[in-house]
Amino acid sequence: MRKEDSFKKASLNAQKTMALLDDRQIRKVPQNYTIWYEYLSEENPAVKEAVNRLMLEKGKFNDEVAKQIYNEFFSHEKEGKAIRETNRLVQKSMEAVLKEIRASSAGLTEYSDKLEGFADGAEDLDNDAFHSMVRQIIDETRNMSKRSQHLNESLTQASAEIDDLRKRLENVEQEALTDPLTGIANRKRFDNELIKATDEAIKNKTKLCLVMSDIDHFKKFNDTHGHLFGDQVLKLVASTLDTGVEKAALTARYGGEEFGIILPETAISHAIQIANQLRESVSSKKLVKRNSGDDVGKITMSFGVAQFDYEEDPMNLVSRADNALYGAKEAGRDQVKYEMPEFARTA
Ligand code: GH3
Ligand code: MG
Ligand code: MG
Repeated sequence: MRKEDSFKKASLNAQKTMALLDDRQIRKVPQNYTIWYEYLSEENPAVKEAVNRLMLEKGKFNDEVAKQIYNEFFSHEKEGKAIRETNRLVQKSMEAVLKEIRASSAGLTEYSDKLEGFADGAEDLDNDAFHSMVRQIIDETRNMSKRSQHLNESLTQASAEIDDLRKRLENVEQEALTDPLTGIANRKRFDNELIKATDEAIKNKTKLCLVMSDIDHFKKFNDTHGHLFGDQVLKLVASTLDTGVEKAALTARYGGEEFGIILPETAISHAIQIANQLRESVSSKKLVKRNSGDDVGKITMSFGVAQFDYEEDPMNLVSRADNALYGAKEAGRDQVKYEMPEFARTA
């Protein structure tokens, strides 16, 4: 398939997905979009089969069906496993401590019973018996002290173990939201953050923009210079985009060589400026092969910008920015195009 065609096909599939969500009145959030995009693309028959089956079972596509499908096919299995494993280890650690506490409290009762017994009998004792009793008390007390020391150690160890597990869980969580090649946010994090950002914009009545960008003729680049060098370029692009925006923005690898940038508290005129700066910043990088020192020229990127309309679903914003990006490709690449929302056109 020609490059043009593959971009067109993806864009067509995206439009079909949005139309389907409209038709069936399904909320346009990234999870639903992902499921139905996959459903329509027919590249994963298992997804289609599961959606059909669950819809038949539940009568319609609702949040419950969406959650089940998303968890089964799209969320990170690794993350789920790690959480289950961590829970199991925490439980084991707690069980060991509880056992210790139970043994120790049984020991404590025994000890206090013995002390009581000594106290009761102490009045009638002669000197020798009294001494032997004192010795026994000392022994029992030593025993008890050993036990409670042991309990103390177990508690300290358990709390260290649990703390370590908590940290490991945090790492897994972090990993599940990070793109392993470029180290920036992945699609999952982008989806989460986009919902948060649109909610915030509505709540605080602030402007929000989305920039979608895609490397130009990257297939040819890979074919000419090799996939590994292509990977290096992806890393460079990711860090160029990421460091080129303010901290409040979120840069994510949306797909293969496509990046999404969420710009909170940003109006479209400013977002277009930012996109142009990023475009220039990427195209000004001279690419040199590390091992041979060969100069391989430069790469360019196309950008699509859209400003969030409070009335629209988050995926609609993505779709509009994507349309603008498609426009930038069609107009010859290495440029920024933007999509004006309805409210801005009529205002
Ligand atoms: P266009 O200007 O229309 O975007 O053309 P294009 O060639 O960039 O677009 P197309 O969608 O035809 O090809 C995208 C290419 O991106 C294909 C694939 O080899 C490359 N790509 C996607 N992910 C990766 C990756 O992780 N590493 C490398 N090296 N290449 C990737
Ligand atoms: Mg491309
Ligand atoms: Mg692409």
